[in-house]
Amino acid sequence: MKTILACCFESDAPPAAVRECLELLGFPGPDPRWRWHAPGLLCVTLDAAPPPAVRERLQRLPGMQRVLDRSLASRPAGARSAVPLGKTSIGGGQLAVIAGPCSVESREQVVEIAAIVAAAGAEALRGGAYKPRTSPYAFGGLGEAGLEHLAAARERTGLPVVTEVLDTDDLPVVAQYADVLQIGSRNMQNFPLLFRTGAHPRGRPVLLKRGMAATLEEFRMAAEYVRLGQLWAGFDGRLILCERGIRTFEPSVRNVLDVAAIPLLQKTTDLPVIADPSHAAGVRELVRPLARAAVAAGADGLLVEVHTDPGRAWCDGEQTLDPAQFELMVREVRALAALRPAPPAGPRQAPSLTAARSS
Ligand code: PEP
Ligand code: MN
Repeated sequence: MKTILACCFESDAPPAAVRECLELLGFPGPDPRWRWHAPGLLCVTLDAAPPPAVRERLQRLPGMQRVLDRSLASRPAGARSAVPLGKTSIGGGQLAVIAGPCSVESREQVVEIAAIVAAAGAEALRGGAYKPRTSPYAFGGLGEAGLEHLAAARERTGLPVVTEVLDTDDLPVVAQYADVLQIGSRNMQNFPLLFRTGAHPRGRPVLLKRGMAATLEEFRMAAEYVRLGQLWAGFDGRLILCERGIRTFEPSVRNVLDVAAIPLLQKTTDLPVIADPSHAAGVRELVRPLARAAVAAGADGLLVEVHTDPGRAWCDGEQTLDPAQFELMVREVRALAALRPAPPAGPRQAPSLTAARSS
């Protein structure tokens, strides 16, 4: 069976050690089966696992930090990694509700909505400051001012902030304000953004949304790019997957929530899996039923759009819940979550930050 090794070198590892590593693995020269992802991070695909003696020699090469097996089949199924979400975590068995407006419109708007969702029991606040929009003439977000408003809302409510990073150029400023970096559906295969968001030295957890036409295998591979970035930076496993509906031939919903994806991703990865019923539904009436379906299927959390006046929202108002509908949804999904069986094993803690690469 194919084996994938990630060889993590010090950035100043001697070139001779790198050459010897590749030779030991059967690559005397350039080959499409090995690839550098960043200085010091070499990934190699092999037809079979190397013998223990070779692994030991690799480990003892000068400048070699560690050799890790990245073969997807080797992932522990069942136990979820607990990913930090502000003061709490996601994936440890509790249901985490992340809620807020589609886009940040003003400080007053986001502070007010944050207070409402906090009072209803949300664990985190969502809101876009950098918005991907189909039309170049639609509202694209307030940018850094929107991030400042989100920070003000966090200050008032204590809720951690989940917000989208649209582009590698925006990564430093978004990572400065956000507690969790969202990568949206349209960017699920923006490979440089995936790697660099994972590799950002602040080590912010990443929330990756499934592309609207992505298979689960493509989604897992996209997740692997983020994880390689995190591995390189020293924060492996701080990743949340989000099923947000896929495009089908059915026109009466914006997207079709792929409920089966939730248990399937939980079975084939060790990552928390949440669902976004708002972008799946496209219409308000369907958000609560889809949220219930996702929780019944075992989702570790929900990402939901809420606005004090959905009819006047600057973006996605038709799929946005008002405060009363949100409060009802939270009560319904908490009641359902209480009926779920306990997770199969204790959560694995996300690795500590002490191993982080300083850059
Ligand atoms: C969002 O959550 O703000 C968003 C744009 O969703 P998606 O990327 O799933 O379309
Ligand atoms: Mn939206």
